[in-house]
Amino acid sequence: MSSDSNLEMMAYLADRLTSLGARTELFTDPSGHKANLFATLGPEGPGGIVLSGHSDVVPAVADDWTSDPFAMVERDGRLYGRGACDMKGFIACALAAAPDYAGRDLARPVHFAFTYDEEVGCLGARALTEELARREIRPEIAIIGEPTEMRVIEGHKGCCEYTTRFTGAAGHGSAPERGVNAAEYAARYVARLLALREELHARAPEHGRFDPPWSTINVGRIEAGVAHNVIAAHAEVDWETRPVQPADGPFVTETMRAYAEEELLPAMRAVCPEAAIETETVGEVAGLIPMPENAARRLVSELTGANGAEVVAFGTEAGLFQSLGLSAVVCGPGSIEQAHKPDEFVALDQMEACLGMLARLGPRLAAA
Ligand SMILES: [Zn+2]
Repeated sequence: MSSDSNLEMMAYLADRLTSLGARTELFTDPSGHKANLFATLGPEGPGGIVLSGHSDVVPAVADDWTSDPFAMVERDGRLYGRGACDMKGFIACALAAAPDYAGRDLARPVHFAFTYDEEVGCLGARALTEELARREIRPEIAIIGEPTEMRVIEGHKGCCEYTTRFTGAAGHGSAPERGVNAAEYAARYVARLLALREELHARAPEHGRFDPPWSTINVGRIEAGVAHNVIAAHAEVDWETRPVQPADGPFVTETMRAYAEEELLPAMRAVCPEAAIETETVGEVAGLIPMPENAARRLVSELTGANGAEVVAFGTEAGLFQSLGLSAVVCGPGSIEQAHKPDEFVALDQMEACLGMLARLGPRLAAA
Protein backbone atom coordinates (compact mmCIF):
# COMPACT_ATOMS: atom_id res chain seq x y z
CA MET A 1 0.00 0.00 0.00
CA SER A 2 1.02 3.62 -0.39
CA SER A 3 1.79 3.79 3.34
CA ASP A 4 4.27 0.87 3.15
CA SER A 5 7.85 0.84 1.94
CA ASN A 6 8.34 -0.19 -1.70
CA LEU A 7 12.09 -0.76 -1.39
CA GLU A 8 11.90 -4.55 -1.61
CA MET A 9 9.86 -4.42 -4.81
CA MET A 10 12.13 -1.77 -6.32
CA ALA A 11 15.25 -3.79 -5.46
CA TYR A 12 13.72 -6.79 -7.23
CA LEU A 13 12.84 -4.76 -10.34
CA ALA A 14 16.26 -3.09 -10.32
CA ASP A 15 17.97 -6.49 -10.10
CA ARG A 16 16.03 -7.87 -13.01
CA LEU A 17 16.73 -4.85 -15.22
CA THR A 18 20.39 -4.56 -14.20
CA SER A 19 20.98 -8.22 -15.05
CA LEU A 20 19.77 -7.40 -18.57
CA GLY A 21 22.37 -4.67 -18.87
CA ALA A 22 20.14 -1.70 -18.01
CA ARG A 23 21.64 1.38 -16.38
CA THR A 24 19.54 1.42 -13.25
CA GLU A 25 19.13 4.01 -10.55
CA LEU A 26 17.02 4.18 -7.41
CA PHE A 27 16.04 7.58 -6.06
CA THR A 28 14.84 7.40 -2.47
CA ASP A 29 12.37 9.86 -0.98
CA PRO A 30 13.36 12.06 1.98
CA SER A 31 12.18 9.37 4.44
CA GLY A 32 14.45 6.75 2.83
CA HIS A 33 11.42 4.46 3.00
CA LYS A 34 10.37 4.64 -0.65
CA ALA A 35 12.10 4.91 -3.97
CA ASN A 36 11.60 5.65 -7.64
CA LEU A 37 13.34 3.39 -10.13
CA PHE A 38 14.65 4.72 -13.41
CA ALA A 39 16.38 2.26 -15.72
CA THR A 40 17.56 2.62 -19.30
CA LEU A 41 18.36 0.15 -22.06
CA GLY A 42 19.98 1.37 -25.27
CA PRO A 43 22.00 4.45 -26.11
CA GLU A 44 22.57 7.50 -23.91
CA GLY A 45 21.14 10.81 -24.95
CA PRO A 46 17.81 12.39 -25.67
CA GLY A 47 14.75 10.78 -27.20
CA GLY A 48 13.40 7.34 -26.64
CA ILE A 49 10.44 6.00 -24.80
CA VAL A 50 9.44 5.85 -21.15
CA LEU A 51 7.34 2.96 -19.88
CA SER A 52 5.85 4.22 -16.65
CA GLY A 53 4.02 2.53 -13.82
CA HIS A 54 3.43 3.22 -10.15
CA SER A 55 4.40 0.69 -7.51
CA ASP A 56 1.84 1.54 -4.83
CA VAL A 57 -1.74 0.35 -4.42
CA VAL A 58 -4.74 1.51 -2.42
CA PRO A 59 -5.65 -0.46 0.74
CA ALA A 60 -7.80 -3.60 0.61
CA VAL A 61 -10.28 -4.89 3.20
CA ALA A 62 -9.58 -8.64 3.14
CA ASP A 63 -13.13 -9.57 4.27
CA ASP A 64 -14.60 -8.09 1.09
CA TRP A 65 -12.40 -10.28 -1.12
CA THR A 66 -12.96 -13.82 -2.39
CA SER A 67 -9.26 -14.56 -1.92
CA ASP A 68 -6.28 -12.93 -0.22
CA PRO A 69 -5.94 -9.47 -1.86
CA PHE A 70 -2.16 -9.61 -1.49
CA ALA A 71 -1.58 -13.07 -3.01
CA MET A 72 -2.24 -13.16 -6.74
CA VAL A 73 -4.47 -16.01 -7.93
CA GLU A 74 -5.62 -17.01 -11.39
CA ARG A 75 -9.31 -17.85 -11.82
CA ASP A 76 -11.35 -18.02 -15.04
CA GLY A 77 -8.75 -16.33 -17.22
CA ARG A 78 -8.22 -13.51 -14.78
CA LEU A 79 -5.46 -12.59 -12.37
CA TYR A 80 -6.90 -11.42 -9.05
CA GLY A 81 -5.11 -9.25 -6.50
CA ARG A 82 -4.87 -5.71 -5.25
CA GLY A 83 -3.08 -3.71 -7.95
CA ALA A 84 -3.61 -6.38 -10.65
CA CYS A 85 -5.04 -3.85 -13.12
CA ASP A 86 -3.86 -0.69 -11.30
CA MET A 87 -1.17 -1.13 -12.50
CA LYS A 88 1.10 -4.00 -11.66
CA GLY A 89 -0.14 -5.81 -14.78
CA PHE A 90 1.56 -3.23 -16.92
CA ILE A 91 4.77 -3.33 -14.87
CA ALA A 92 4.88 -7.12 -15.28
CA CYS A 93 4.41 -6.76 -19.05
CA ALA A 94 7.17 -4.12 -19.27
CA LEU A 95 9.50 -6.41 -17.35
CA ALA A 96 8.59 -9.34 -19.60
CA ALA A 97 9.37 -7.27 -22.71
CA ALA A 98 12.72 -6.06 -21.35
CA PRO A 99 14.85 -9.12 -22.38
CA ASP A 100 13.74 -8.64 -26.00
CA TYR A 101 14.74 -4.96 -25.93
CA ALA A 102 18.04 -5.86 -24.25
CA GLY A 103 18.82 -8.32 -27.03
CA ARG A 104 18.44 -5.72 -29.77
CA ASP A 105 20.82 -3.10 -31.03
CA LEU A 106 18.68 -0.17 -29.97
CA ALA A 107 18.83 3.08 -31.91
CA ARG A 108 16.68 4.81 -29.28
CA PRO A 109 16.71 4.26 -25.52
CA VAL A 110 13.83 2.68 -23.65
CA HIS A 111 13.39 3.85 -20.06
CA PHE A 112 11.56 2.12 -17.25
CA ALA A 113 10.11 4.59 -14.75
CA PHE A 114 8.53 2.96 -11.71
CA THR A 115 7.32 5.35 -9.05
CA TYR A 116 6.03 5.49 -5.46
CA ASP A 117 2.97 7.21 -3.96
CA GLU A 118 0.86 7.71 -7.09
CA GLU A 119 -2.33 7.00 -5.17
CA VAL A 120 -1.62 9.76 -2.68
CA GLY A 121 -0.93 12.62 -5.09
CA CYS A 122 1.66 11.38 -7.63
CA LEU A 123 4.45 12.30 -5.21
CA GLY A 124 6.96 9.85 -6.69
CA ALA A 125 6.38 10.89 -10.29
CA ARG A 126 6.69 14.54 -9.30
CA ALA A 127 10.09 13.85 -7.68
CA LEU A 128 11.20 11.71 -10.63
CA THR A 129 10.24 14.21 -13.33
CA GLU A 130 12.03 16.95 -11.35
CA GLU A 131 15.12 14.73 -11.16
CA LEU A 132 14.99 14.04 -14.90
CA ALA A 133 14.65 17.76 -15.62
CA ARG A 134 17.61 18.52 -13.34
CA ARG A 135 19.75 15.97 -15.20
CA GLU A 136 18.46 17.12 -18.56
CA ILE A 137 17.28 13.62 -19.43
CA ARG A 138 14.78 14.28 -22.20
CA PRO A 139 12.92 11.25 -23.51
CA GLU A 140 10.46 11.92 -26.32
CA ILE A 141 7.50 9.74 -25.46
CA ALA A 142 5.87 8.40 -22.30
CA ILE A 143 3.42 5.51 -22.10
CA ILE A 144 1.66 5.39 -18.75
CA GLY A 145 0.22 1.91 -18.29
CA GLU A 146 -2.88 2.71 -16.23
CA PRO A 147 -5.78 0.40 -17.06
CA THR A 148 -7.51 1.62 -20.24
CA GLU A 149 -8.32 -1.80 -21.75
CA MET A 150 -5.47 -0.96 -24.14
CA ARG A 151 -7.33 2.02 -25.56
CA VAL A 152 -5.23 5.10 -26.24
CA ILE A 153 -6.00 7.95 -23.86
CA GLU A 154 -4.65 11.36 -24.79
CA GLY A 155 -6.25 13.53 -22.14
CA HIS A 156 -7.48 13.67 -18.57
CA LYS A 157 -8.30 16.40 -16.11
CA GLY A 158 -5.94 17.46 -13.38
CA CYS A 159 -6.78 16.83 -9.73
CA CYS A 160 -5.83 19.28 -7.00
CA GLU A 161 -6.70 18.57 -3.37
CA TYR A 162 -6.57 21.02 -0.49
CA THR A 163 -7.37 21.24 3.21
CA THR A 164 -8.20 24.71 4.48
CA ARG A 165 -8.00 25.22 8.26
CA PHE A 166 -9.66 28.08 10.12
CA THR A 167 -8.51 29.18 13.57
CA GLY A 168 -10.91 31.49 15.39
CA ALA A 169 -11.50 32.25 19.04
CA ALA A 170 -13.84 30.26 21.31
CA GLY A 171 -16.45 31.87 23.51
CA HIS A 172 -19.95 31.47 24.89
CA GLY A 173 -22.66 30.98 22.29
CA SER A 174 -24.69 33.78 23.90
CA ALA A 175 -22.11 36.39 22.84
CA PRO A 176 -21.13 35.58 19.25
CA GLU A 177 -19.52 38.99 18.69
CA ARG A 178 -16.88 38.35 21.36
CA GLY A 179 -15.42 35.32 19.64
CA VAL A 180 -14.38 34.43 16.10
CA ASN A 181 -16.53 31.61 14.82
CA ALA A 182 -14.33 29.41 12.62
CA ALA A 183 -17.39 27.40 11.50
CA GLU A 184 -19.06 30.52 10.15
CA TYR A 185 -15.96 31.66 8.29
CA ALA A 186 -15.56 28.16 6.88
CA ALA A 187 -19.19 28.34 5.70
CA ARG A 188 -18.47 31.62 3.90
CA TYR A 189 -15.39 30.06 2.35
CA VAL A 190 -17.44 27.11 1.11
CA ALA A 191 -20.07 29.50 -0.29
CA ARG A 192 -17.30 31.26 -2.23
CA LEU A 193 -16.10 27.89 -3.58
CA LEU A 194 -19.61 27.12 -4.79
CA ALA A 195 -19.85 30.53 -6.50
CA LEU A 196 -16.52 29.78 -8.19
CA ARG A 197 -18.10 26.69 -9.66
CA GLU A 198 -20.34 28.93 -11.78
CA GLU A 199 -17.34 30.97 -12.89
CA LEU A 200 -15.52 27.81 -13.96
CA HIS A 201 -18.58 26.80 -15.91
CA ALA A 202 -18.33 30.05 -17.85
CA ARG A 203 -14.59 29.54 -18.47
CA ALA A 204 -15.08 26.10 -20.08
CA PRO A 205 -13.16 25.84 -23.35
CA GLU A 206 -15.23 25.58 -26.51
CA HIS A 207 -15.54 22.06 -27.91
CA GLY A 208 -14.20 20.58 -24.65
CA ARG A 209 -14.14 16.77 -24.73
CA PHE A 210 -14.24 16.14 -21.00
CA ASP A 211 -17.39 15.10 -19.19
CA PRO A 212 -18.39 17.57 -17.85
CA PRO A 213 -16.44 19.97 -20.13
CA TRP A 214 -15.67 22.49 -17.38
CA SER A 215 -13.37 22.39 -14.36
CA THR A 216 -15.18 21.14 -11.27
CA ILE A 217 -15.02 21.87 -7.54
CA ASN A 218 -16.03 19.42 -4.85
CA VAL A 219 -16.34 20.04 -1.12
CA GLY A 220 -15.58 16.66 0.40
CA ARG A 221 -15.52 17.22 4.16
CA ILE A 222 -16.40 19.96 6.62
CA GLU A 223 -15.61 19.68 10.29
CA ALA A 224 -15.96 22.32 12.98
CA GLY A 225 -16.80 23.13 16.55
CA VAL A 226 -17.72 21.14 19.65
CA ALA A 227 -21.28 21.97 20.79
CA HIS A 228 -24.42 24.05 20.20
CA ASN A 229 -23.56 26.76 22.66
CA VAL A 230 -19.84 27.19 22.02
CA ILE A 231 -18.32 29.48 19.44
CA ALA A 232 -16.35 27.19 17.15
CA ALA A 233 -12.63 27.89 17.47
CA HIS A 234 -11.57 25.49 14.71
CA ALA A 235 -12.88 24.41 11.34
CA GLU A 236 -11.54 22.38 8.46
CA VAL A 237 -12.67 22.06 4.87
CA ASP A 238 -11.38 19.37 2.47
CA TRP A 239 -11.97 20.35 -1.12
CA GLU A 240 -10.70 19.61 -4.59
CA THR A 241 -10.74 21.07 -8.06
CA ARG A 242 -10.28 19.18 -11.33
CA PRO A 243 -9.01 21.58 -13.98
CA VAL A 244 -9.80 20.93 -17.66
CA GLN A 245 -7.17 23.52 -18.65
CA PRO A 246 -3.96 24.39 -16.79
CA ALA A 247 -4.93 28.02 -16.08
CA ASP A 248 -8.03 27.00 -14.10
CA GLY A 249 -5.95 25.54 -11.24
CA PRO A 250 -4.18 28.81 -10.33
CA PHE A 251 -7.43 30.71 -11.06
CA VAL A 252 -9.15 28.76 -8.30
CA THR A 253 -6.32 28.82 -5.76
CA GLU A 254 -5.58 32.51 -6.36
CA THR A 255 -9.26 33.50 -6.08
CA MET A 256 -9.60 31.58 -2.82
CA ARG A 257 -6.32 32.95 -1.43
CA ALA A 258 -7.41 36.52 -2.15
CA TYR A 259 -10.88 35.91 -0.67
CA ALA A 260 -9.40 34.43 2.52
CA GLU A 261 -6.73 37.11 2.97
CA GLU A 262 -8.63 40.18 1.85
CA GLU A 263 -12.18 39.48 3.00
CA LEU A 264 -12.29 36.86 5.74
CA LEU A 265 -9.04 37.35 7.65
CA PRO A 266 -9.37 41.13 8.26
CA ALA A 267 -12.82 40.55 9.78
CA MET A 268 -11.52 37.67 11.93
CA ARG A 269 -8.45 39.58 13.09
CA ALA A 270 -10.46 42.65 14.01
CA VAL A 271 -11.72 40.55 16.94
CA CYS A 272 -8.77 38.22 17.49
CA PRO A 273 -5.31 39.05 16.05
CA GLU A 274 -4.25 35.38 16.23
CA ALA A 275 -7.05 34.22 13.93
CA ALA A 276 -5.75 32.37 10.90
CA ILE A 277 -6.69 30.66 7.66
CA GLU A 278 -4.21 28.17 6.25
CA THR A 279 -4.52 26.08 3.14
CA GLU A 280 -2.49 22.88 2.86
CA THR A 281 -1.89 21.44 -0.60
CA VAL A 282 -2.55 17.72 -0.29
CA GLY A 283 -1.72 16.96 -3.92
CA GLU A 284 -1.71 18.69 -7.28
CA VAL A 285 -1.81 16.28 -10.21
CA ALA A 286 -1.34 17.96 -13.56
CA GLY A 287 -3.89 17.22 -16.24
CA LEU A 288 -2.97 15.58 -19.54
CA ILE A 289 -3.87 18.11 -22.19
CA PRO A 290 -4.94 16.66 -25.55
CA MET A 291 -2.54 18.01 -28.18
CA PRO A 292 -3.10 18.38 -31.92
CA GLU A 293 0.35 16.86 -32.51
CA ASN A 294 1.21 13.94 -30.24
CA ALA A 295 4.05 11.56 -31.09
CA ALA A 296 3.01 9.22 -28.27
CA ARG A 297 -0.52 8.97 -29.63
CA ARG A 298 0.80 8.25 -33.11
CA LEU A 299 3.20 5.56 -31.92
CA VAL A 300 0.81 3.80 -29.55
CA SER A 301 -2.04 3.91 -32.07
CA GLU A 302 0.24 2.17 -34.56
CA LEU A 303 1.36 -0.39 -31.98
CA THR A 304 -2.17 -1.21 -30.81
CA GLY A 305 -4.06 -0.68 -34.06
CA ALA A 306 -6.37 1.75 -32.27
CA ASN A 307 -8.02 4.33 -34.43
CA GLY A 308 -8.64 7.45 -32.44
CA ALA A 309 -7.78 8.46 -28.93
CA GLU A 310 -10.06 9.32 -26.04
CA VAL A 311 -10.12 11.37 -22.88
CA VAL A 312 -10.97 9.97 -19.44
CA ALA A 313 -12.07 11.24 -16.05
CA PHE A 314 -9.36 9.69 -13.85
CA GLY A 315 -6.00 11.30 -13.19
CA THR A 316 -2.60 9.72 -13.88
CA GLU A 317 1.10 10.57 -13.88
CA ALA A 318 0.90 11.39 -17.61
CA GLY A 319 0.34 15.11 -17.00
CA LEU A 320 3.62 15.32 -15.06
CA PHE A 321 5.53 13.75 -17.95
CA GLN A 322 3.77 16.09 -20.35
CA SER A 323 4.77 19.12 -18.29
CA LEU A 324 8.37 17.90 -18.58
CA GLY A 325 8.01 18.27 -22.35
CA LEU A 326 7.33 14.65 -23.29
CA SER A 327 4.47 13.62 -25.46
CA ALA A 328 2.39 11.23 -23.37
CA VAL A 329 -0.53 8.85 -23.55
CA VAL A 330 -2.15 6.46 -21.10
CA CYS A 331 -2.52 2.90 -22.37
CA GLY A 332 -2.50 -0.26 -20.30
CA PRO A 333 -4.15 -3.61 -19.65
CA GLY A 334 -7.28 -4.06 -17.56
CA SER A 335 -10.18 -1.78 -16.79
CA ILE A 336 -10.40 1.17 -14.40
CA GLU A 337 -13.80 -0.32 -13.46
CA GLN A 338 -11.93 -2.93 -11.41
CA ALA A 339 -9.41 -0.57 -9.86
CA HIS A 340 -9.68 0.32 -6.15
CA LYS A 341 -12.41 -2.34 -5.66
CA PRO A 342 -12.60 -5.73 -3.93
CA ASP A 343 -11.71 -8.64 -6.25
CA GLU A 344 -9.65 -6.37 -8.48
CA PHE A 345 -8.43 -8.31 -11.50
CA VAL A 346 -6.74 -8.05 -14.86
CA ALA A 347 -7.87 -10.40 -17.63
CA LEU A 348 -5.19 -12.58 -19.22
CA ASP A 349 -6.25 -11.53 -22.73
CA GLN A 350 -5.62 -7.92 -21.70
CA MET A 351 -2.12 -8.91 -20.56
CA GLU A 352 -1.58 -10.61 -23.91
CA ALA A 353 -2.71 -7.50 -25.77
CA CYS A 354 -0.27 -5.40 -23.74
CA LEU A 355 2.59 -7.86 -24.33
CA GLY A 356 1.76 -7.67 -28.04
CA MET A 357 2.01 -3.88 -28.03
CA LEU A 358 5.34 -3.97 -26.18
CA ALA A 359 6.68 -6.70 -28.51
CA ARG A 360 5.88 -4.53 -31.54
CA LEU A 361 7.73 -1.67 -29.87
CA GLY A 362 11.06 -3.60 -29.93
CA PRO A 363 11.70 -3.38 -33.70
CA ARG A 364 10.66 0.30 -33.64
CA LEU A 365 13.30 1.06 -31.02
CA ALA A 366 15.94 -0.78 -33.01
CA ALA A 367 15.15 0.90 -36.35
CA ALA A 368 17.36 3.92 -36.84
ZN1 LIG B 1 -3.03 3.59 -10.96
